Amino acid sequence: MPLLTEEHQEIRKAVRRFTDEEVIPVAQELDTHNKEIPLHIIQKMAELGYFGLIFPPEYDGIGLDYISMAIVAEELSRGWLSVGSVMTRSIITGTLLLAHGTDEQKKKYLPGIARGELMTAAAFTEPDSGSDTGSMKLRATKKGDGYVLNGEKTWCTFANRAHLLTVIARTDPDMSKRHRGLSIFLVEKDAGETINHPNISGGPIPTVGYHGMRSYALSFDECFVPAENLIGLEENKGFYQLMSTYESARIQTAARAVGIAQAAYEAALRYSKERIQFGQPICNFQAIRMKLSEMASKLEAARQLVYYACDMKDTGKRCDLEAGMAKVVAAEMVEYVTREAMQIFGGYGYSKEYPVERFWRDGRVISLFEGTSEIQHEVIARRLIELS
Ligand SMILES: Cc1cc2nc3c(=O)[nH]c(=O)nc-3n(C[C@H](O)[C@H](O)[C@H](O)COP(=O)(O)OP(=O)(O)OC[C@H]3O[C@@H](n4cnc5c(N)ncnc54)[C@H](O)[C@@H]3O)c2cc1C
Repeated sequence: MPLLTEEHQEIRKAVRRFTDEEVIPVAQELDTHNKEIPLHIIQKMAELGYFGLIFPPEYDGIGLDYISMAIVAEELSRGWLSVGSVMTRSIITGTLLLAHGTDEQKKKYLPGIARGELMTAAAFTEPDSGSDTGSMKLRATKKGDGYVLNGEKTWCTFANRAHLLTVIARTDPDMSKRHRGLSIFLVEKDAGETINHPNISGGPIPTVGYHGMRSYALSFDECFVPAENLIGLEENKGFYQLMSTYESARIQTAARAVGIAQAAYEAALRYSKERIQFGQPICNFQAIRMKLSEMASKLEAARQLVYYACDMKDTGKRCDLEAGMAKVVAAEMVEYVTREAMQIFGGYGYSKEYPVERFWRDGRVISLFEGTSEIQHEVIARRLIELS
């Protein structure tokens, strides 16, 4: 049976229409002026159910499969990586709650997340702890009927617009416990243009691309969280709980890369048919034809790997290996495809007149976040050796 059903094709058509009508006409202009995604676009995405795709209907989700989720991520990112990335946060917090939240926590937060009414952001990375999660220091100290958070986080994307921060914090002060001393909390806050919380402050980090979302460096100063917001009401299980979100988030991130690359490939193909040099379209030249062929082949290979990882997830199989492979391959592929697209555009590719320069800048981030490519290779190799 083919992996993609008619329903999947219909979903792709519908999201493509939304992206063509709502996202593509504004993306380049907004990116150039470093403006965030307009709220009305996020509102429409919520109405279309994009934030609840993989969550069960009992929590107001749509209950679709992972392939549908990947298709939506791909098509939105074809318009603008930032737009395809808002849902990553809902997926992280939602899958975390679904797998490890108490019934109360699920009932309280999941329907809002699935309906796109509760925006979330992931506060995991710290200034001195990126890949090395076990070295995290932000401290959660028990106080009365809750915990007080003190310390620093960084790169918390969408922190300003989120209503909920998913924060990993150290509940066991013994640093030698490393991963075994971490817990996850949901911190409620107001959404806004800046950070709206009396005990959390911070500002955005200027970035090369990904301009539709702001990534914040955050300071937590005596930030109180009720004990009921400790995920699963279990201390020191945070790292293991977080691991359960990796497969979904990596698949979704790989799909985002496929979307950016698709946009770059389509733009380059179109341009190569229109651009005349030496009295003929440049797509007649073998050097350009080779590029188009390589781009399309690598793109399709990465896409199929993403769908394969989705299929494993949909059939209930462990797929950390496949999700990691999809992320690594898609990250390399998007850098290659966007670079070649820029080359096909010649000097215009380096200008702001065409969006290929944005695809190139946005594509570069894929190998850095959601686990760097070096870390993915480590995870892949570890599993391969384990299985051998
Ligand atoms: C635009 C953007 C948005 C982000 N959004 C978020 C977010 O919303 N929430 C969040 O929590 N984080 C976010 N991040 C942070 C991101 O997840 C981290 O940058 C990433 O985990 C890497 O951590 P680091 O930057 O501290 O690099 P480091 O961990 O310091 O790594 C530096 C280099 O060393 C390599 N390295 C490290 N350890 C090893 C090892 N054991 N073996 C081989 N190589 C190694 C890395 O691969 C990298 O090349 C975002 C980052 C960016 C750029």
